[in-house]
Amino acid sequence: MGELTRRAILLAGGATLGGLAGAKLTSKVPSVAGTKSLQPAGLANTLNDASGLNETPIFRHITLQENPGENLIRRIRFEIDEARREGRPVNVGAARHSMGGHAIPRDGQAITYDNGFVDLNTRDNVFRAHAGARWSDVIRALDPLGFGPKVMQSNNDFGVAATFCVNAHGWPAPHGPMGSTVKSIVMVRPDGEIVRCSRTENAPLFFLTMGGYGLTGAIVEITVEAAANVNLVPTYQKMPSRDFAKFFIGAIERGDVNMAYGRLNVDRETFFEDALMITYREGDDQTEIPPASGSGAMSKIARHVFRAQLMNETAKDLRWWFETDLGPMISGGPVTRNSLINEPVVTLDDRDPTRTDILHEYFVPPGRFAAFIDACQEIIPASYQQMMNITLRYVGADNESLLSYAPAPRIACVMLFSQEMTERAEIDHARMTRALIDRVDDLGGTYYLPYRPHASAAQFRRAYPKAAEFAAEKRDYDPDLLFRNGFWDTYLKDL
Ligand SMILES: Cc1cc2nc3c(=O)[nH]c(=O)nc-3n(C[C@H](O)[C@H](O)[C@H](O)COP(=O)(O)OP(=O)(O)OC[C@H]3O[C@@H](n4cnc5c(N)ncnc54)[C@H](O)[C@@H]3O)c2cc1C
Repeated sequence: MGELTRRAILLAGGATLGGLAGAKLTSKVPSVAGTKSLQPAGLANTLNDASGLNETPIFRHITLQENPGENLIRRIRFEIDEARREGRPVNVGAARHSMGGHAIPRDGQAITYDNGFVDLNTRDNVFRAHAGARWSDVIRALDPLGFGPKVMQSNNDFGVAATFCVNAHGWPAPHGPMGSTVKSIVMVRPDGEIVRCSRTENAPLFFLTMGGYGLTGAIVEITVEAAANVNLVPTYQKMPSRDFAKFFIGAIERGDVNMAYGRLNVDRETFFEDALMITYREGDDQTEIPPASGSGAMSKIARHVFRAQLMNETAKDLRWWFETDLGPMISGGPVTRNSLINEPVVTLDDRDPTRTDILHEYFVPPGRFAAFIDACQEIIPASYQQMMNITLRYVGADNESLLSYAPAPRIACVMLFSQEMTERAEIDHARMTRALIDRVDDLGGTYYLPYRPHASAAQFRRAYPKAAEFAAEKRDYDPDLLFRNGFWDTYLKDL
């Protein structure tokens, strides 16, 4: 079984899940990110994000390509000074794949970084990167030297500092969110001062910025832990969904699992009854580690299998068989850790301008996982939404960031829906999301913040009990409220 075919199985299963939504950025809202043009001051302009549902008026959008250093800082200070003078908000973004305008300052000055500087220090197993470097830049720089990212999302298009600002997680085990792997950041504060922050230097600002959605200033440089790139061998295990947490946590706690995820079936008749657990352990043979691969031609076939599921129950059954029976039968050989995470978001693009891919995520205490299955079985099939995939992951505890979603170890349930781009679908989607949030909250879990802003203000405050403390500390650092975005405007400005 060749590498490409193994990757196709993973993609068909949506292990990489990504670009589903991310593809909207290029296919439906081409002017959003990635543009290198400097808009003339005052030109009417809008920005959108990966959902395609957040078109927002802005004053200006610029892309900064300078290396970390004086020139970059000078450009940022210029933007800050002008925004303060003119009473406008400012905000930095990277790939703008968050789905609630988290990187969009309404009527303000939007900055995108475009610079892939990455420098590995093999003595300390850390890399220093431009804040706007994407994970693809990091893998490209580290892979030839035998290293890779320790924790990142399932796709490689996201910005490294943006990942810190949403405190993202992935499927490397047994780690907590990505913030736990960050050693230090250098940032320009709203008052223009440059500060280095870490667990020992300006620690309160470091913890406020971790998972702080870009509201505390502009990060320019970041130093992050690297992990050894190794050959990994997968193990597949089918089980009833209600047993998943026991097996999954057991496997992670044994300590030899390097990457892990799970899946549930999504056909309506037996919705969420069956689970598949996939764990990757280091192979015996580490003598030859091939370079990190891209997805290649086979992933196009995987895309067709995945996309055929839309409103097609037979295709959902076929995809589940593809993933649970065919995959394990023809797969099984080693694959490198970097190859597993080196996947762009565009791979599974739906290429349908009338629909958009929307992600949700719920963090469930492992002991309440079976009750969460019950809640999902009641709520999701009764909605009009098309669920395409769910991936289950392990997230270790985060007791550092103020807006922590995992105060203790959690099972992360990452859901992907294909939504019609209509008002009716939007209302139905929001109703379903609020029902799921209430139920996960009752179980002692929470929901993830970078997705659609469908939670009510009361749900947000209940799920994130330190939200008011976060808003108060932000006001201390940024009394003029220069750094603002859709997340602040929707949930924090009145706290
Ligand atoms: C297809 C897809 C797959 C995903 N998979 C995962 C996953 O596996 N795990 C997971 O945890 N999340 C996942 N997410 C969510 C994703 O991690 C966040 O949306 C993340 O923000 C995306 O990175 P970005 O570069 O697009 O950030 P942006 O949306 O551009 O920015 C995110 C936040 O960071 C701030 N920011 C960015 N750069 C800076 C800077 N230099 N200084 C200060 N603030 C800054 C912005 O203001 C904003 O608030 C996924 C999202 C999508 C669309």
